Amino acid sequence: MILKDLIKGNEIFRKNQLPKIEHELKDLVENGQHPEVMFIGCSDSRVTPDLMLSTRPGDMFILRNVGNFVPPFKHDEDFHGSAAAIEYAVAVLKVKHIIICGHSHCGACQSLYQDIPNNDSLIHVKTWLNLGQKAKEKTLKNKNFTNDQEKFRETERNSIIHQLDNLLTYPDIERLLKSNELQIHGWYYDIGSAKIDFYDKENDVFKPLSEMPI
Ligand SMILES: [Zn+2]
Repeated sequence: MILKDLIKGNEIFRKNQLPKIEHELKDLVENGQHPEVMFIGCSDSRVTPDLMLSTRPGDMFILRNVGNFVPPFKHDEDFHGSAAAIEYAVAVLKVKHIIICGHSHCGACQSLYQDIPNNDSLIHVKTWLNLGQKAKEKTLKNKNFTNDQEKFRETERNSIIHQLDNLLTYPDIERLLKSNELQIHGWYYDIGSAKIDFYDKENDVFKPLSEMPI
């Protein structure tokens, strides 16, 4: 995929798909977006929210970052893009659901086990990955891995659970959960099979999405 493919891709989209959804887009332009779902996913190019969920323009407010991490609520004078997106989704769009969707073969989770040099090239990445440290610590308490890949898969799942905890540090989210105006979900997307599991908090296990109570 190179730049000319993207240019051609937009031409193809406008020619083939636009006529089918033109009325939807017109409505979204005139009436604005009213998504009921916020999707927090990894920036990984293999995670394709609209493709894997068959969603349409206006369906999901999407935040993507390295590792689908959620920074805990902590206001200071720095620029917190992920926190701003979460606040906007909750306070302005008033989404009904927030889905944190982790995925298999996540480079961010794997990087938790590597030394990242202290230099300007990756200094923000190094700091950002601290948001995965608790997932790594929890994973390492299980000593029964037969290989690294098993360890990485468990880290990816543990991270989803930890990021859900971080969502609870946002005062509005805590309040809206208590009043049942908002639900938060942890999903795990397997890149090879496109299967999604959800986190069943009560039983502390991941189960197929088809079994999710709604
Ligand atoms: Zn990832």
